[in-house]
Amino acid sequence: MLTFEDLKKILTLNYREEDVKLIVKAFHFASEAHKGQKRRTGEDYIYHAIATAYNLAQMKMDIASIAAGLLHDVPEDTDFTFEDLKSNFGSEIHNLVKGVTKLGTLKYRGMERYAENLRKMFLAMSQDLRVIIIKLADRIHNMETLDGVRPEKRLRIAQETLEIYAPLANRLGMFRIKNQLEDLAFPYVYPEEYKWTMSLIADRLKSEAKYIEEIKKLTQKELTKHNIEINSIRGRVKGIYSLYKKLLRKGKDVNKIYDLIALRIVLKEVADCYSAMGILHKKWTPLKGRVKDYIAQPKPNGYKSLHTSVFTDFSKIVEIQIRTVEMDEEAEYGVAAHSKYKEVGMLGKGKKQLKWLDHLMEIQKTITDNTEFIKHIKNDLFLDQIFVFTPKGDVVELPENATPLDFAYYIHSDIGSKCVGAKINNQMTSLETKLKSGDVVEIITDKNRKQPNADWLHMVATNMAKNKIRSQLNKK
Ligand code: MN
Repeated sequence: MLTFEDLKKILTLNYREEDVKLIVKAFHFASEAHKGQKRRTGEDYIYHAIATAYNLAQMKMDIASIAAGLLHDVPEDTDFTFEDLKSNFGSEIHNLVKGVTKLGTLKYRGMERYAENLRKMFLAMSQDLRVIIIKLADRIHNMETLDGVRPEKRLRIAQETLEIYAPLANRLGMFRIKNQLEDLAFPYVYPEEYKWTMSLIADRLKSEAKYIEEIKKLTQKELTKHNIEINSIRGRVKGIYSLYKKLLRKGKDVNKIYDLIALRIVLKEVADCYSAMGILHKKWTPLKGRVKDYIAQPKPNGYKSLHTSVFTDFSKIVEIQIRTVEMDEEAEYGVAAHSKYKEVGMLGKGKKQLKWLDHLMEIQKTITDNTEFIKHIKNDLFLDQIFVFTPKGDVVELPENATPLDFAYYIHSDIGSKCVGAKINNQMTSLETKLKSGDVVEIITDKNRKQPNADWLHMVATNMAKNKIRSQLNKK
């Protein structure tokens, strides 16, 4: 169980003194408010607030969010009011807590509830993304203590986590949180599958953990010898739920999983990353075709790191990932990693990096039928995404299986309806071609063309394009 001392320790490392003081104040306030309250697990309520704030501090969220994390259940569960929060902590923290509380009050069950949930979430997100991140931090601790919840409620909460919260964390680039939530929910939602996966990998995990520890020591020694300062070095174990899904894709053959554990090295400077890779390649032979420089050429989703797989002393192959502290935080915490610097996108203004959020808001406003709404969200937003480029280099996010027509309609309805052809990476191609991440897509239009083709309905992957085509056909 995490205590306030643990929270204070991590705050002192990364935040200013006056910020820590604010958190101490919020802690005393929350402790007083929740005094005497217990959770079903038997522990004092305040520990839930501390854990939530701790999760936020770990993501390096801004101080207002961490304070809101401590206070998030105060107005709903205690005698203190929103006004009390406002007068003690100001309107920013007050608004954050209000946003989180709103998300929590749900009237619906089943499908209706699910849709309402999503709608509320997206609305809150468009106003201030931090609300969702606080909610995610709260959800992590709720999942960690799910055993204390009534059995009939457990499954519903775990399902919601797997179907809404984890995909949302994924969309926000918060991969660590996504894995954490999935792994916490997995045993509750699919107990049999969970047991099966665990039994498959238990032995391998044990032997590989020991072995990666050896590799870690050798790497540490080697880098230190060459005066490279190591920020952190650790074995990264693949999430059990994502492993399960990968197993399903690989015909349930555990021997086809090569990245069960990878070694992750975090360094100070970009130059150190390249030096380290050189040093390690001198010690261990790299596997052909597995050396990837995502620093010089980041993945389309912005991911930066050096990757390599090497033959080590134990005649085993290990994947090594090398990156700077910034790159590491960005990859683990996604959009949360920016909040400390108050970058655009965080507060709902100038959501440059979050174009999908605008899309979502459009869907939210235009589709009132809840069943339809869920279909859209699941298809257009929670499918695995690909990133393609306009000829000018702007990034467009589309679901997997999207075609040039989806792209055209994404850009503009008129580009869609007047589309007569498409080029992918400068090559003329059919409108049915499935796009791949990194493709540069150019749409050829004819201004005399007035109508889309009815066949197009079967050639698009997004509901958004389908709807636009349908409404254009109806206008005829
Ligand atoms: Mn809570």
